[in-house]
Amino acid sequence: MNKPRRRRSSKRRSERSPRSQAAVETASETLSKPSGVPAEARATDECIASKTPQAADEDRLRPEAQRAVIAAADTNRGEASDVVSGKPAGDVDEEGFAEFVSDSAFAQFGLSLDTLRALYEVGYKTPSPIQSEFIPVALTGRDCIGQARTGTGKTAAFVIPILERLDLRSDKLQALVLAPTRELSLQVRNEAVRLGSTRRCGVVALVGGHPIDRQIRELKKRPAIAIGTPGRVIDLLRRKALDLSHLRFVVLDEADRMLDIGFRPDIERILRRCPSERQTLLLSATMPPPVERLARRYMRNPAMIDLSEDRVAISDIHQYYITVDEERKPAVLARLLLEQRPKQAIVFTRTRRRATELYEKFSKLLPDVAHLHGELPQRQRDRTMRAFREGRVRLLIATDVVGRGIDVSGVSHIINYDIPEFQDDYVHRIGRTGRLSSDVPGYAFTFVTRQQGEELTRIEKRINRLLDEYRVQGVVAYEPTRKDQG
Ligand code: AMP
Repeated sequence: MNKPRRRRSSKRRSERSPRSQAAVETASETLSKPSGVPAEARATDECIASKTPQAADEDRLRPEAQRAVIAAADTNRGEASDVVSGKPAGDVDEEGFAEFVSDSAFAQFGLSLDTLRALYEVGYKTPSPIQSEFIPVALTGRDCIGQARTGTGKTAAFVIPILERLDLRSDKLQALVLAPTRELSLQVRNEAVRLGSTRRCGVVALVGGHPIDRQIRELKKRPAIAIGTPGRVIDLLRRKALDLSHLRFVVLDEADRMLDIGFRPDIERILRRCPSERQTLLLSATMPPPVERLARRYMRNPAMIDLSEDRVAISDIHQYYITVDEERKPAVLARLLLEQRPKQAIVFTRTRRRATELYEKFSKLLPDVAHLHGELPQRQRDRTMRAFREGRVRLLIATDVVGRGIDVSGVSHIINYDIPEFQDDYVHRIGRTGRLSSDVPGYAFTFVTRQQGEELTRIEKRINRLLDEYRVQGVVAYEPTRKDQG
């Protein structure tokens, strides 16, 4: 058995079709046309935020006691640039908010009106699955491990319990969130600012690539929450600009990725400086042994909340494999793009060299193509990411390490041009699509050569689901063997 299983028809559509080179040529139309997604559009998730900030009438709905606390915090804290005043502007939609308070599943968690107000304003109507399970446990103060990937609403899942439990009278730093990348840190910071907008609490991002002096000044304004990458946090600790001695909450966000990119010593150094009386929340898409070891050492009897891809991503993303001979991959990719017309796609290769080669081939054929891997200069990577985020790049060819951190809501297709070496990488890769904030359904296609049947099986075991075979039309994806013909 040297081919992937479950091939069904004996007569392949591909064999009846024009030659593969023609597909490469016609594919140049693919990305230049207005974005198209497959017709069978997924029903819009109820959870998708309308993102229409509603107006507020703080004074009516917020109890007196809360206002007193906020006023006290005001005097204590002074001005901090990221501190959002508790007074949103705009028209009042009292009725809508009252309805939200009485009906929304968020209200069932016993959240304060401040938090409900912020949720209402950002337009989150229903908790996502990770939020439904994580928030009630985290609110009890217990350490929690949440197995969930980015795009499922995991940020709000840990930010909401922290906001709820902050001591607004304190002027100390109470919460530290460690995240693997600068970008993720800024995303988390923005979410914390949005969800904390009805409270007086400062939120600061401590990330590399931005002037450290400014961050030191921000810290002097006594924010309650800091979010940063381990490297910059260590740097600030060395300069004695960051005091962790009053922390009550520590979050390790995307713990698996932080460990992957070598942050373990820094994380441990930071955790050793944190008070032992604290709540630790750990979020991770996967739970490989190094993450488990970290959890065992630094967490106390954590509750496990498993909303991992097996239950979330997998049910949301349409996943297929395509049997293909190695040398026919470019033609099959071109044809697949033509058939699928992705809004935005990431094509994953195993190595940097293969990413570059594929980029060189496809950038001649298609507009809006870019590549991303660890050998490219940081500035070029940043530029590419910006263009991808803004939709100016439609096809991104990337390796695992840099590609899997991408959080762009327009990604409709993941194409595993090379089958991932590790099963967890499959999960990370496909997690770049089908996101909660996305308005496009997610599709994942994995190219499998006939020698890679075992690797496909291992992935299927990991995700506990069989992938369906997909056949591209108009190209011969693989040379039939005598056995196939017979
Ligand atoms: P995250 O997994 O935290 O990166 O969140 C992914 C996206 O989903 C972000 O754009 C959030 O603003 C959005 N989001 C989070 N929770 C909800 C919710 N309950 N309803 C709608 N959108 C949400």
